[in-house]
Amino acid sequence: MSANKLCKCTRKTRNACGNCSRLRMVFLMDFELGNIQNPVYYSFQAEDRKYKDERVLARQMLSRLSKLHRGRYHKIEVFDNQASGKPKLFEFKKNETL
Ligand SMILES: [Zn+2]
Repeated sequence: MSANKLCKCTRKTRNACGNCSRLRMVFLMDFELGNIQNPVYYSFQAEDRKYKDERVLARQMLSRLSKLHRGRYHKIEVFDNQASGKPKLFEFKKNETL
């Protein structure tokens, strides 16, 4: 980790952090909801350490988050929050998440 990071996470931190979490997940909400912002989530750092495979980690996040949005999204995009440029890793269609 760089010395000028903006948070106080350590290797024992368990919660999600915009700096340190491995995955960034964006729910693309249904268009009829208007111009509301697409919700963004970061993986729990406890789970970052527990699951090596990004897809397994992402599925773990989805099992928590998909219920929260009651299926009012059409797609979920998953980004690598640690790589430079934060590239997209993969995406889930709605029917893959239920
Ligand atoms: Zn952090």
